[in-house]
Amino acid sequence: EKKITEESIILGAPAELKARLSSNENPFGPSEKAKKAAMDALNTSYQYPMKYTRELAQKIADYEGVKLENILMDAGSGPLLLAAAMYYSKKSGSNIVSGDPTYASLPRDAEDFNTTWNKVPLTADYKLDLDAMEKRVDASTSLMYICNPNNPTGTVVDSAKLRAFCGRVSQKVPVFIDEAYIDYLPDPQAASMMDCVKKGQNVIIARTFSKLYGFAGLRVGYIIAQPDVIKELSKYGAGGMSISAPSVQAALVAYQDKAFLQDALKKTLASKNFLYDVLKKEGYEYIPSSSNFVMFPLKMEGDKFVAELMKRGVSVRNWKFSNQEWCRISIGRMDEMQAFADAFRQIS
Ligand code: PLP
Repeated sequence: EKKITEESIILGAPAELKARLSSNENPFGPSEKAKKAAMDALNTSYQYPMKYTRELAQKIADYEGVKLENILMDAGSGPLLLAAAMYYSKKSGSNIVSGDPTYASLPRDAEDFNTTWNKVPLTADYKLDLDAMEKRVDASTSLMYICNPNNPTGTVVDSAKLRAFCGRVSQKVPVFIDEAYIDYLPDPQAASMMDCVKKGQNVIIARTFSKLYGFAGLRVGYIIAQPDVIKELSKYGAGGMSISAPSVQAALVAYQDKAFLQDALKKTLASKNFLYDVLKKEGYEYIPSSSNFVMFPLKMEGDKFVAELMKRGVSVRNWKFSNQEWCRISIGRMDEMQAFADAFRQIS
């Protein structure tokens, strides 16, 4: 996976896109209620956001059945992943174990702090290979990073198996479970490893409002972990003070708004089924996805495919693994999926 640099964000951004299908955002959000709350909040935005941030953390704590000292908020989950990368790189000679490919942010940042990234290939059905990952833990391992559902493959691991894995592995090393896409599963609470934290295990759960809530630009995320871990990680960032008051107040009304979440999920599924049909009709396979993006094997060089689509106003991303070139396409609105289909038919 290519590193996203400031330069690539600014210089690489195309002037005009018909379909923005490269960043796993939710174009059906944020909800109308959330937008109104953010706009209303501008009136009092000369005030620091603490009061609302605490209210949001309490709301999350109540829903999850944890305490305030179990939560650390920040402007998206990205800064919290960076905090973990820095903290778990403190001991020299450390390594971080993860699947490969996975969401690279945390282990790649850890490499910048001289930690080794211990990559474990996926199973034949492109899932995290939990057995192989457990075997990779050694005396120098400082963290186990699990992304579930996994980005960029969109696959999930069996919950019971992951729960048993957390129970064993967390006795040796902290287990970081990145649940950015958990809201796209039929029963997020059943699939979440939050109960492992509640049992006192050394498990860190990362969540974000950037995905199903549609808050990628508003920037709200959090981690839930044991209080001593929260205390340590809070030293590596500004925490809740980083989130703007309008974003926090929008999150307060959006949190667990089931009607909105179900509607966004329904629209995402409709667009995803449309995409599956397009791929099938063009003779392509795909990895069945439990998230808002789909990975499919390409029949041409990945960089060329991305460039050809970009020329036609459609942004997607490419990967190379298992001796194969792949495209990861985010699920967008139906007009965006149609724009992809039109461009795809021209070049496939
Ligand atoms: N974790 C995963 C798995 C992601 O895919 C992303 C973003 O794409 C993030 C974390 C970071 O998102 P944010 O900083 O917007 O919460």
